[in-house]
Amino acid sequence: MSTQELPPIDKIIAREAILGEGLAIRRALPTKERRMVGAWCFLDHLGPVGPEHSLSVGAHPHTCLQTFTWMIQGEVLHRDSLGYEQVIRPGQVNLMTAGRGISHTEDSLPGGDGMHTVQLWIALPEEQANMAPAFDHYPDLPIWLQDGVDMTLLVGEFAGHTAPTKVHSPLIAVDLQSKQAQTSSLALKPDFEYGILVLQGQLSVEGQSFVANEFAYFAPGRAELDLTWEAGTHVILIGGAPAKPVTMWWNFVDYDKSSIVQSQLDWENHSERFGSVVEGEHRRLAAPAIPWK
Ligand code: MN
Repeated sequence: MSTQELPPIDKIIAREAILGEGLAIRRALPTKERRMVGAWCFLDHLGPVGPEHSLSVGAHPHTCLQTFTWMIQGEVLHRDSLGYEQVIRPGQVNLMTAGRGISHTEDSLPGGDGMHTVQLWIALPEEQANMAPAFDHYPDLPIWLQDGVDMTLLVGEFAGHTAPTKVHSPLIAVDLQSKQAQTSSLALKPDFEYGILVLQGQLSVEGQSFVANEFAYFAPGRAELDLTWEAGTHVILIGGAPAKPVTMWWNFVDYDKSSIVQSQLDWENHSERFGSVVEGEHRRLAAPAIPWK
């Protein structure tokens, strides 16, 4: 496909949001410009911040999604209503499947040089919206060097590598870092849509340049991407087959508003559906009032 036939790249500026008890982050999904990339429906970029910053998110519920945490720097303790307690460290992924309902807390551990992490949500397919909740920790992911770019495969299959991460839709996620200024290319699936969020540095694609917290969206139709890297650039690539739109409110994902209203009632009524987090109930987050109820 020649360049002039390609759909344009949308540049989306990740918006500022506050996470937990006052930590500023940048949110690339959802925005008014774009709700989803494949089944990826949420993308928060936290940091890099120094050791004076901490993360403390009290007990809160999720439905119909998987939370996906990719740790670049720092350590965070995950606790959930299934009884899992797991510290996530740099180079590791935590994947929590909410299904019909789960609750969890997240707290950074003191010490170290600070924190840098990306958290995404994956919408579950409608037929698996009510699956049993689960938690998985992936300490070892495929790592390789390609065209001078350090690659870590977080989800899916790419360049002959397969990630162990268990997801329920056709998806991909890759962490890419280039120490030096250079060009490289990536093979894409034309039936996937893709997004690249720059975490640090500057990346140019098809004549457009993107700096930290700028998100490039690519509609389906590309078989290859040519990238021009500035030295010290770090990005995350996500992609997937376009998925059915979901409704999102607070920490709930679902396919209709009435299910979200019920989920919020169940959380407010301390339903067993969301269980409880040991040492988390004293700082249980309250959902804001639903505006469209
Ligand atoms: Mn959460």
